[in-house]
Amino acid sequence: MATDPFVGVLALQGDVVEHIAALEGAGARAIAVKNAGDLARVDGLVIPGGESTTVMKLLDRFGLDAPIVERVRNGMPLWGTCMGMIVAAHDVAELDQRTLDVIDITVRRNAFGRQNESAEVDLPIPVLGERPFPAIFIRAPWIERVGPRVELLAARDGHGVMVREANVLGTSFHPELTGDPRVHAYFLQMVDEAKAVGKASSAA
Ligand code: GLN
Repeated sequence: MATDPFVGVLALQGDVVEHIAALEGAGARAIAVKNAGDLARVDGLVIPGGESTTVMKLLDRFGLDAPIVERVRNGMPLWGTCMGMIVAAHDVAELDQRTLDVIDITVRRNAFGRQNESAEVDLPIPVLGERPFPAIFIRAPWIERVGPRVELLAARDGHGVMVREANVLGTSFHPELTGDPRVHAYFLQMVDEAKAVGKASSAA
C-alpha cells in the first residue's frame, strides 16, 4: 500500500501551523522544516507566507537555500504561497531582491494596492473544478511575467495569481487560511506523482 505523502513546511517565519493542519487535513503527514536534516526527510516542501526579504536572509543564514534549490532541480515538488512564491520566483519587479529562482516568473510585491491589502475573492481555478476557490490575499504579490514552460492556473483582475512549472507551484493567496482543502490536495497529488516517477526511474 502507498504511504501517505510526507511534506515539510519551511518554518523560519510565517504561517507554518496553518499549513501543517491543512496538509494533515488533506491526508498527508507534515513536519516543520528548520534545517537541512529536516529537508532531507520530506517528499515535498511548502514555503508559507511571511516577509520575503527576511526569509531569504534566514535561508542563507541556516544554509537552506542551496539544498532547497538542489532538491527542487532533482524533482522535489515545491509550493510557495504569497511570500513563498516571491522567494521561489526568477526575479522581483523593480527590486534587486535575491530569490531561489526555481520557477520562471517575475512577481511584483504588494501589488494589489492599498485598498486591497487584504481581500477574500471567489477565484475561478479551472484545474480545481467548477466551484470558485475562496482565495484570501494579504499584501499579495501578482505574477507579472510567465516563462514559456509556466502554466497560468488562475488570474485576478487580469493578473496571474496561481502558476505551475513542472514540480513548482505558486499561489499569491493563502489556501491554508480557508477551510477549502483543494489546493493542498492538488499539491499532494504533485507529491504523489513525483514519488511515482522517482520509483519508476530507480526501478529501471
Ligand atoms: N508582502 C509580503 C512580501 O512581499 C508577502 C505577504 C504575505 O506573504 N502574506 O514579502
